[in-house]
Amino acid sequence: MTHAIDTTDSTEMSAFRADTRAWLAAHCPVEMREPMRSEEDVCWGGRDWVFVSAAQRQWLQRMAERGWTVPTWPREYGGGGLSADEAKVLAQEMRALGCRSPLNSFGIWMLGPALLKFGTEAQKREHMPKIARGEIRWCQGYSEPNAGSDLAALATRADDHGDHYLVNGQKIWTSYADKADWIFCLVRSEGAAKKHTGISFVLFDMATPGVTTKPILLISGKSPFCETFFDNVRVEKSNLVGKAGGGWDVAKYLLTHEREMIGGIGDRGLPKPLGQVAAGLVGTDASGRLNDALLRAQIAEFEVDEAAFRATMERFGELAKARQAHPAFSSALKYYGAELNKRRHELLMAAGGSDALEWESPRSKQGAAARTWLRTKGNSIEGGTSEVQLNVIAKRILELPGA
Ligand SMILES: Cc1cc2nc3c(=O)[nH]c(=O)nc-3n(C[C@H](O)[C@H](O)[C@H](O)COP(=O)(O)OP(=O)(O)OC[C@H]3O[C@@H](n4cnc5c(N)ncnc54)[C@H](O)[C@@H]3O)c2cc1C
Repeated sequence: MTHAIDTTDSTEMSAFRADTRAWLAAHCPVEMREPMRSEEDVCWGGRDWVFVSAAQRQWLQRMAERGWTVPTWPREYGGGGLSADEAKVLAQEMRALGCRSPLNSFGIWMLGPALLKFGTEAQKREHMPKIARGEIRWCQGYSEPNAGSDLAALATRADDHGDHYLVNGQKIWTSYADKADWIFCLVRSEGAAKKHTGISFVLFDMATPGVTTKPILLISGKSPFCETFFDNVRVEKSNLVGKAGGGWDVAKYLLTHEREMIGGIGDRGLPKPLGQVAAGLVGTDASGRLNDALLRAQIAEFEVDEAAFRATMERFGELAKARQAHPAFSSALKYYGAELNKRRHELLMAAGGSDALEWESPRSKQGAAARTWLRTKGNSIEGGTSEVQLNVIAKRILELPGA
């Protein structure tokens, strides 16, 4: 395995890179350097998490002890205290060694950044270390049957009872609600008349009496999300993030992180370039070119777009470090990353032919290709639809006049 050495490293950063590489080589179990074979290999953590292997448990523990499940979070909240440049080096070295992510988590991708900005000191100290160690798994209670793209139309009610609220209503499409320990949830606390200013952002334990979940079965045969019902759920006011009625600001900020994270799927591709994967499926001619000329052209176009997207992500990262990134750019990343990932899996299915449609056989790893392809259809809906992202880009980035 060759390492991509960044020749622009300063002396200090070269030393950090060398130490990081040595630590990863010594501490990442060999099994955790294999590409994930299916969703079952992903570690989500949480109170009820059952590790699929000793190596998965060890990898999470070792990374969490170092604060490297959340490298840039401050140390006092369970993070690694790394600078953005150091975190980039860590990510590069993990990629070079093929290390799996030790922990996938809505707490890391969404709630943590929002708590850092809007949470009280007590909320940060209570929740962030547990997120970093993978002890508490979170779900997101935003969407409702009548509030999706028009999220501010949400109707779940939080009635003020002095030191606590009583929450009543329904959420929908709540990913992993049946597996999560806690929820970050948007509720209407200030009356229906004030659309955006009447919303609060609250946290509560999914084991609180009055919370029930009902999984929704999808075309992929899985149930990754639920309808979630609240019937007189008691939520202490200490679990209100930001001001009462100020939840919309927290919600929007969190969404920019969610959109960046989802956009990243455009870059988090397959373990090998798509062209190489396709070559293994359709074969190559005498000069080593993909046997199927049409597919070859489509994959070439895809790989150019993928490289351009990677460069755009990199540029965004640099601008964000310099605090010059456009606040709405996460919509552009989300839009393009989601569309790229959908194209990637359309092309994989085309390369796989009828074999890729196999649904249950062990040979097809229980239909992994087809199920993943179907799952990608949701990429342009979750976290805000592609149409909504295009609206944001038109209005806020291109500053086009409204219709
Ligand atoms: C895989 C997946 C996971 C999800 N996980 C969660 C979760 O964990 N928590 C959670 O709260 N939600 C979750 N969602 C819900 C998701 O956020 C919503 O589905 C999404 O915001 C769209 O809302 P909607 O489904 O109500 O569609 P609608 O808002 O009803 O939209 C229907 C159609 O109309 C279009 N449309 C709507 N308004 C406009 C407009 N102004 N301009 C142009 N077109 C428009 C949309 O683009 C879409 O095509 C998840 C969704 C998916 C697919």
